[in-house]
Amino acid sequence: MANYPNVQLHIDGEWRDSRSGRKLEVLNPASEEIIGTVAHAEKVDLDEALAAAERGFATWRKVAAFERSKIMRKAADLLRSRADAIAPLMTQEQGKPLPEAKMEVLAGADVIDWFAEETRRAYGRVIPARAEGVYQLSLREPVGPVAAFTPWNFPINQVVRKLSAALSTGCSIIVKAPEETPASPAELIRCFVDAGVPKGVIGLVYGVPSEISSYLIPHPVIRKVTFTGSTPVGKMLAAMAGQHMKRATMELGGHAPAIVFDDADVTKAAKTLAAAKFRNAGQVCVSPTRFLIQERSFDQFMETFVTAAKAVKVGDGMVEGTTMGPLANDRRIPAIEALVQDAQQRGAKLHTGGKRIGNKGYFYEPTVMSDLPLDSRAMNEEPFGPLALVNRFSDLDEVVTESNRLPFGLAAYAFTGSATTAQAVGARVETGMMTINHLGLALPEVPFGGVKDSGYGSEGGSEAIEAYLVTKFVTQAGL
Ligand code: NAD
Repeated sequence: MANYPNVQLHIDGEWRDSRSGRKLEVLNPASEEIIGTVAHAEKVDLDEALAAAERGFATWRKVAAFERSKIMRKAADLLRSRADAIAPLMTQEQGKPLPEAKMEVLAGADVIDWFAEETRRAYGRVIPARAEGVYQLSLREPVGPVAAFTPWNFPINQVVRKLSAALSTGCSIIVKAPEETPASPAELIRCFVDAGVPKGVIGLVYGVPSEISSYLIPHPVIRKVTFTGSTPVGKMLAAMAGQHMKRATMELGGHAPAIVFDDADVTKAAKTLAAAKFRNAGQVCVSPTRFLIQERSFDQFMETFVTAAKAVKVGDGMVEGTTMGPLANDRRIPAIEALVQDAQQRGAKLHTGGKRIGNKGYFYEPTVMSDLPLDSRAMNEEPFGPLALVNRFSDLDEVVTESNRLPFGLAAYAFTGSATTAQAVGARVETGMMTINHLGLALPEVPFGGVKDSGYGSEGGSEAIEAYLVTKFVTQAGL
């Protein structure tokens, strides 16, 4: 077992404890044992982080994109070279199997590389003028110091998208990383620091999320807010950002429909979707949740899908062969239990799972339910756990209506052998992301974000840096 550290804050180029010395305990969700601590920032620490971010912005915005890009690429290389050391920290604090943790670290390096390339292509425009000798320039400038709030399900991925987009555009950033999974994001930030990002450009704090957000968001130094987490918290933070006229990106909850038509390769669809469902124990904002299967294919889909669910090997993520770890914290077990119980009471069928495993560690069985009434809680609330809900549909109109029934619109999945049907679901389902006949979401170079209550703004693709840039118009005539 890798040694788990006592995680510190990073403020003004220094790794340190909070001024008060206060710390929070970090638990391993597989054993419920305390494995380390994380420093707890208070107002005095936040004030220092804000002052440093202001100075850091003044420095970093003047560093040429070409140089910023080189430093970022170096950070990516460091992250890759440290993946074997960082992945076990993530598994111990978050629970996911070690290979998944390592994949997340390596994917983080790819995200950094992508933004390191984009930084050199944040072009402005020259607009044709009405008079000779006049240049009309649309310039892109960094928005300013950013406050970023990230959750515990992907401790590195959630930080690296915000951090890389901010740095690539010349912004400084204060990251409020997750208190429950603090070590791996700290190691990510260490890669940037060791690569030569100047002091003050990146701040890292932990503490009470609501105290930190309500202090940072209104603060005049902060110009941009970015949050990943639940819809209710996102709405609160977006309102606060609006009140103080701060730009905001919100990556919030989802309840993804996964539609399988009769003309699909149903067995392949069931296997592919089962792999997606139980990854990270379902604690994924784009996790397929409402499985909508066309009537004739229902039995075939269920047979393959339930078999795949039963084959998931649940255990400590550090143990070789584990394919699903525990849930990440003690809040998820009662949350999933309540959804399953409610659905059963309303007449849904339980095909496998439905119980906590043991009483030490937050393990829960991969669970498949079918024939759920639309008013069951699980069909309306994001389960954020290893719970698959399978219902039937008869035709395209019916499945589009069901897909669009909820206020969420983050990810959607579809499987069909018909180009016409693929085109129709792509056009008619209200979603920020749609993946058809394969799993193709969340690469650094493609847009990532939702619509409706799932939030706004993109954290991937060339769209992702837009949110960190402001436009300045300059018009200039000769003497
Ligand atoms: P939660 O809603 O309290 O917290 C979600 C995240 O928001 C956490 O990272 C938390 O630290 C942060 N947060 C909460 N209040 C905040 C505040 N006032 N200011 C700043 N940050 C704040 O609940 P939870 O138990 O941690 O997670 C439960 C639900 O959150 C899940 O069911 C899921 O819907 C959602 N969630 C979504 C994602 C995602 O990737 N979109 C990730 C984690 C959690």
